[in-house]
Amino acid sequence: MEALCSIKCVNCHSPSHEADSDTCPEYVEMKAILKTAATQGIKIKEARLQHNRQFSKAVLCPPQAPPLSDPASQQVTSLQAQTKLIREIAIPSTNASIQSLTQDLEETKGKFEHIDARFDGLEKKNRKPAPPPNLPTSIN
Ligand SMILES: [Zn+2]
Repeated sequence: MEALCSIKCVNCHSPSHEADSDTCPEYVEMKAILKTAATQGIKIKEARLQHNRQFSKAVLCPPQAPPLSDPASQQVTSLQAQTKLIREIAIPSTNASIQSLTQDLEETKGKFEHIDARFDGLEKKNRKPAPPPNLPTSIN
């Protein structure tokens, strides 16, 4: 008895909404069909046929991932395969270059410490008072 008393959509028989709810796919579709019939001046039956061809699947079917036969998906798949291949080929040599890079960095670090020391010296030089601005620029 309880099921009979609960809300049940007469359009799509879903218990989750009323017949005039905007969440009802059938009601939304019917509104679109009526609008098509009104704007194009055609019969509701014709509008429904037109609408079924165009929108029915999109309204009634849940969104799905594109099939693998889709050209874009094929591109992505082959790209993923290529990326995997590149990784497999590149990683051993990348590890080697990372090792040599680490060595380079160690050497560079030493150089940077040296440069830092030189900059310290420059800073000390720059801290000397600047010459007065009215100093003659040329000697006659
Ligand atoms: Zn419904």
